[in-house]
Amino acid sequence: MRDLYDIIGVSKNASKDEIKKAYRKLALKYHPDRNPDNQEAEKNFKDAAEAYSVLSDNQKRSSYDQFGHAGVGMGNDGGRGGFSGGGVHMSMDDIFSQFGDIFGGTSFEGFFGGNGPGRARSGGSDIRIKLKLTFEEIALGIEKKIKVKRSVVAPGAQFITCPTCQGQGQVSTVQNTILGHMRSTSVCPHCNGSGKRIGNRPPGAGPDGMIKKEETIKVKVPAGVEEGNYMTLQGQGNEDVTGNPGDLMVVFIEEEHTYFIRDSENVLLEVNISYPTAVLGGKVEIPTVDGKAGLKIPPGIQSGQVLRMKGKGFPRLRSRSNGDQLVKIQIETPIKLSRSAKKTIETLEGDLNPILNPFAKLKL
Ligand SMILES: [Zn+2]
Repeated sequence: MRDLYDIIGVSKNASKDEIKKAYRKLALKYHPDRNPDNQEAEKNFKDAAEAYSVLSDNQKRSSYDQFGHAGVGMGNDGGRGGFSGGGVHMSMDDIFSQFGDIFGGTSFEGFFGGNGPGRARSGGSDIRIKLKLTFEEIALGIEKKIKVKRSVVAPGAQFITCPTCQGQGQVSTVQNTILGHMRSTSVCPHCNGSGKRIGNRPPGAGPDGMIKKEETIKVKVPAGVEEGNYMTLQGQGNEDVTGNPGDLMVVFIEEEHTYFIRDSENVLLEVNISYPTAVLGGKVEIPTVDGKAGLKIPPGIQSGQVLRMKGKGFPRLRSRSNGDQLVKIQIETPIKLSRSAKKTIETLEGDLNPILNPFAKLKL
């Protein structure tokens, strides 16, 4: 594992400001928008962000200085029962949400073709909904139908210019103080800033002239999304009184899986094999997020060893490649044995104990 100071390219006694500057340079160099479909750049981009997340935090930095990677949960034994990783692992979304300011406001949204932040728009409020996805759905990508309750202008509703603010949406108040006239502006309380008020209110409409309308909307979820990624569906949010809609944001939530664990684009799975298979080797059928697959067990495998199934993980969002499935092997000790199996094991014990137990021959 590379030294975090080396990754950022600063010395061990660099100031916070130096670290920030150096990181910003790297982040811009390896930014995914500048390096589309470039996995190496993406890896450098993530590594830099992970290193920066530690070195920009006084407490984490001092823990790293004292204990190295293990001090900040980046060691190989950190978390997840011996699987490497865990700790400070960051997804692209984490990076943008935590250090987004460093790029001057680039957000993940851009990856889905949204216009990104800073887009000038009027219109009603945005709706944010969560969409739960199973690992299998994420692996393949899926089109989902979701029900959304939007606020829309009631049919037949007519609006007049708000008499309180004369359509300005703002009201000014002038107070006489000992310092002279103090003028302050605030959102008009009678039209909530829209400048319009309901003229005739159709039956069923709220006092604002709006009704709630439930709609079914199709969402095409790209394969490989992660928890917290979101999609912006423009114009599918709430309408304002002029009928101008806001946006709908669909935030993806991963459903926990009974036996798979996700680690970014990789899938972690623990598989029990029998003692004979461990000794002799063999092939076992195991699940992947993309259906069943055969896994070759090499003879003489040890409990805890991790086998890598290339390309059997999740698709990477902006490339055509897949992550891997990492299979941690556990040798299962049988609890119930038939009489003949027990006999065989007893014979084996006689054969193997002196070999396996280094203390068997020790004279005490
Ligand atoms: Zn008003």
